Amino acid sequence: MNILEKSQSIRNHKTTASENLEGFIKKINKDNPKINAFLEINIDNARKKAIEIDSKIKNGEKVGKLAGLVVGIKSNINVEDFHITAASPTLKNYIGSYDATVVQRIKDKDGIIIGMTNMDEFAAGSSTETSFRGPTDNPRAPGRIPGGSSGGSAAAVASGMCDIALGSDTGGSIRNPASHCGVMGFKPTYGVVSRQGLLDLAMSFDQIGPFSLDASGVALMLEVIAGEDRRECTTINWQVPEFTKSIADSEDALKGMRLGVVKEFFDVSDEAIVNIIEENIQQMQEAGAEVVELNFDYLKLCLPTYYLINYVEFFSATRKYDGRKYGERIEEVCGEEVLRRIYMGSYISQKEFSGKYYKKALQARSLIRKEITGLLKDVDVLVGPTVPKLPHKVGTELEPMEMYAYDILTVIANLAGIPAASTPAGDVNGIPVGMQLQAKPLDDEKIVKLMAANEVLN
Ligand code: GLN
Repeated sequence: MNILEKSQSIRNHKTTASENLEGFIKKINKDNPKINAFLEINIDNARKKAIEIDSKIKNGEKVGKLAGLVVGIKSNINVEDFHITAASPTLKNYIGSYDATVVQRIKDKDGIIIGMTNMDEFAAGSSTETSFRGPTDNPRAPGRIPGGSSGGSAAAVASGMCDIALGSDTGGSIRNPASHCGVMGFKPTYGVVSRQGLLDLAMSFDQIGPFSLDASGVALMLEVIAGEDRRECTTINWQVPEFTKSIADSEDALKGMRLGVVKEFFDVSDEAIVNIIEENIQQMQEAGAEVVELNFDYLKLCLPTYYLINYVEFFSATRKYDGRKYGERIEEVCGEEVLRRIYMGSYISQKEFSGKYYKKALQARSLIRKEITGLLKDVDVLVGPTVPKLPHKVGTELEPMEMYAYDILTVIANLAGIPAASTPAGDVNGIPVGMQLQAKPLDDEKIVKLMAANEVLN
């Protein structure tokens, strides 16, 4: 039973919200101490909500489309009455006083929010090892990182602790852990989902998006959270597609679909990963897709461009954590990576250096965006690996540049503002490998369709 079928069976009273919830509570109690996917849960409230939904359904009252589904939220998205720490000691005592727009929309549609998930401190990382509450384990490859920075959300979904989870993606933080944990993760077109209530990492890149075990969960959650938000000026006034309808006829989606295969994305990836992605592409071809070979000459520019802009925007976003209004003064308590970004950002932001670094990075960003949207003109979707390497063992010492190297294929979509997702493609000795799908701005629906089609093939 996929997520959409489950939601229908709850609404048709074949199963109950309470039953669904209790299954997850059991799993969390048993496995969360080891996996550390959730930093905080609120069982009493979740139970109250489930009972409320079940009695509404019993009485024939109308309920929302997420009725009875259990949702986890990354700890950098505001949810009233939960600790919103961004996994940093800076905010260890900060409690959400309001719901982010996405959270409000989930609650309006009767989703049950069970708790807050683990992450890298302030979402700055690719491994979920820098959390002040310790690392998250990869449920599909125990002892290895789940990826990051939304590793808790990916692990929660992968281990069956909730139906759907939300993450945030600045340079890959939804797609990267989705790939490492063998689940689906979707980063919408910039401006499709409201960032109101999200603690910024780099606001010109950040997008919130869903994790799910199947495409129907991704589609369902997108329908709920996407769409203009008057309170957030970067959201786009756009007719949100009926994603759950568009996946219904996904079997034919591959016929005639033009898949762009960028050689350079494969050149930087490990052989075992390349082999899995090539097999998937072959399957899609057999199902009627057409492959177009492409080249992208600016791949080497992407990481430096992304990190320079990230440092500058993050530095500016952290100035409010000066110890007066929110918790502690960030520089006094944060971890090494967050401190590095603050120092680098402060340095690059200075007048005398900004021309040399920041302005150049902005120019490079325009160039990258132009090139990528140019490549997408001739094809429907770019397909390739999500992450070029397999996840390392938790606790392995990495240089910053080695950690950043995980992001080389995912930062492109954030630099260009395009939609992108990771979908399970196979495994190397049990370690999951994801395939990345990227499309033109506002072609989010095409990606979701392809995820659904691929699910049938696999
Ligand atoms: N790993 C990237 C970074 O550290 C991406 C993080 C993210 O998407 N939140 O900036």
